[in-house]
Amino acid sequence: MLSYRHAFHAGNHADILKHYIFSLVLEYFNQKEKPYCVIDTHAGAGMYALHSDFSQKNKEFQTGITRLSVEQSLPESLSLFMTMVRSFNREKTVALYPGSPKIAEYYLRPNDQLRLFELHPNEYQTLLANFNKTNVKKTKIELMDGFKGIKSSLPPSTKRGIVIIDPPYEKKDDYQNVVNCIRDSLQRFSTGTYIIWYPTLQRAEPNQMITALQQLNVSSWLNVSMKVSTPSESGLGMFGSGLYIINPPWTLPKSLEKSLPYLAQLLAQDETVSTHLEFSIA
Ligand code: SAM
Repeated sequence: MLSYRHAFHAGNHADILKHYIFSLVLEYFNQKEKPYCVIDTHAGAGMYALHSDFSQKNKEFQTGITRLSVEQSLPESLSLFMTMVRSFNREKTVALYPGSPKIAEYYLRPNDQLRLFELHPNEYQTLLANFNKTNVKKTKIELMDGFKGIKSSLPPSTKRGIVIIDPPYEKKDDYQNVVNCIRDSLQRFSTGTYIIWYPTLQRAEPNQMITALQQLNVSSWLNVSMKVSTPSESGLGMFGSGLYIINPPWTLPKSLEKSLPYLAQLLAQDETVSTHLEFSIA
């Protein structure tokens, strides 16, 4: 049974970190004319109305996208990110927040390719509706397990590609599924850029997953995380998030060194906010 609905969390601090970095990777891929493919294994609904009952429940967006949207002088790369978010909104207030599929669509050119996988039937229907009209001619949206679907998508015919893997981690299996998926995918498409999102929790699984990913001995990788609050006394709940990226753009460390401290101060929920960035670019 799939109970996770991303609308509860849309536009929160973790979405900002993930989508900001995803947009930096997409911008980098756009520097070359040669077409590329984006594969999103856990696509979600694609677009989120922040006034919906789901999003209004905990109003997580208020400590995420709302904080960016009211900032007058963002650093350039974050300002470009906001231009992308605002392109989906008519009013100055951000009422619609794009998910990873619509963010990819914003950056993709007509000859690029987009493959989206989503397992929840309702989210899948909403995703389809959100791609009713698209400029990316080669868009394929499937109601299926992204960990399985990715196998037939690799290597992409473009030979250039970004894979984004963003499971809910509701089931513990997801951590191992990610490692297995990356191991298999690298055999099919070793030069792809793989973006893996993970939560920061008071439990061992996220760190164990990162250790297992590092043991795959890939020469170019980047691990970035941002903790926005003090871990809870109950031991429950997410207090930050991170991305592990295989074959990142060589420009990414510099971009993040510049913008991450600013972003962390903006998204801080208390004074314990911190960021971590480590990488190896071969
Ligand atoms: N990537 C989206 C974004 O950034 O906007 C958010 C995705 S959300 C964190 C995870 C999504 O994965 C949910 O919509 C859930 O229904 C879906 N899901 C869960 N397990 C899946 C699987 N094995 N394959 C494909 N989708 C799955």
